[in-house]
Amino acid sequence: MNTERFETLAVHGGEPRPPEGGSVVHPIHQGTVYETGPGGDAPYIRLGTNPTQRHLHRRLAALEDAEDAVATASGMAAISVALHSVLGAGDHLIAAGSFYGGTLRFLTEHAERLGWTYDLVDPADDHAWRKALRPETKAFLTETITNPLVQVGDLPGAARFAREHAIASLIDNTLATPVVFRPHSVGFDLVCHSATKALNGHSDLAAGVVTGSRERIARVASVMSAYGCALDPHAAFLLSRGLKTLALRVRQQHANAMAVATFLEGHDRIADVRYPGLAAHPDHRRATALFDGYGSVLAFRPVGGAAAADELVASLRLPYAASSLGGVESLVTRVSARGEAAGLPDDLIRFSAGIEATDDLVADFASALRD
Ligand code: PLP
Repeated sequence: MNTERFETLAVHGGEPRPPEGGSVVHPIHQGTVYETGPGGDAPYIRLGTNPTQRHLHRRLAALEDAEDAVATASGMAAISVALHSVLGAGDHLIAAGSFYGGTLRFLTEHAERLGWTYDLVDPADDHAWRKALRPETKAFLTETITNPLVQVGDLPGAARFAREHAIASLIDNTLATPVVFRPHSVGFDLVCHSATKALNGHSDLAAGVVTGSRERIARVASVMSAYGCALDPHAAFLLSRGLKTLALRVRQQHANAMAVATFLEGHDRIADVRYPGLAAHPDHRRATALFDGYGSVLAFRPVGGAAAADELVASLRLPYAASSLGGVESLVTRVSARGEAAGLPDDLIRFSAGIEATDDLVADFASALRD
C-alpha cells in the first residue's frame, strides 16, 4: 500500500533509486534484441519485457496501487486482453454500465464469435446484477464514471458482489483516473485505462493499461503477447513522462469541469447538465463518498434540441470540436452524431475540460450562449 500523496506518487512512484545511469529521466531502451541470460529469458518488446516497458509498468502499478501492470497499444487493446484473460468459450459476462462505444462494439460484434455471452445491466442496480448471474458467469465489467452519461455505480458493492460469487471484477477507470479513484482499494481485480486520454494527457499517443495482482497480470500479459499488442518503448517513454504531471492536470481539469457545470446548470438556455460534482446529479453522494474530485467530463443538453447543440458547439472559441477526452485542451463532442453509444439523446454534448484558465472557459461558454 502506497502512503504518499498522489502528487508525490505521480513523480516518484515506481522510479528506481538510485536512477539508472544517474539520470532522473529514465532512458528509452528501444532495442528488440537482448542477449539471453543464464535462465534462457531475454527481454522482448512483444512480451512487454523490454526495460522501458517494465519501467512504465512499475510506474503504473504504483499509481493504481497494484502489484503489477502491463501497457498495451490502445485502451481497447487493454480492455479486450483483460476480458480475454478471464473469459473463455461458454463463459458469461455481466457488463454494468452505459459504456464507451468501442467497448460496446467489441461485445456486440465479437462476443458471440468468441463463445461469450453477456448481459448489459444498470451499474447502480444490484438487483439487476443478481438477476443476470448464471452458473457460467465468470466476470463483471463496469466503468468508474460511465462514458458519456457520467453515472457512478455502486463500486464497492460491485467488487463485493464479484468476490462473493467468485467471478473476476474488471473496471475501466479512464474517466476517473487514479487521481480521483483507485478501484483496487475497494477490491477490483483488474483496472483498465485508455491511457490515450488523461494518463498521457497530451493527445499525442495511443496506449492502454491493465493493473492487478502479479498472477492476474501474468495472464493478461500472456494474452497481450499472443495478440501482439504491447506498447512500443518509445510510446512507453512518452506515457511515463505524461504521468509525471497527471495529478496537476487532473486537478485543474476538475476545477474547470466543476466551474463550467455550475455555470451551465444555472443558465436558462441549458436544459440538463450531468456532472457527478453537482449536488443535483443522482450519483453525487456516492461519488463524494468514494472520490477525490469528480473528473474532467460532463454531459449537457441545450434548450432547442440538436440544432441548438450544433450551433453552440460551433460558437465556442476555446474547446476543439473533437472526439476524445482527458487531454490538456478542452474538447466538445456531439456524442450521438458520432454514434459512440446507442440510445443517447441526439442533442447531448460531452465536454472534456482541459487545463486552460477556468475564467476563460466560463467566459467562452457565456459568450457562446449569448449569440
Ligand atoms: N475506455 C473509455 C472510457 C474511452 O473513452 C475510450 C476511448 O475513448 C476507450 C476506453 C478506448 O481507448 P483507445 O481509444 O485508447 O483505444
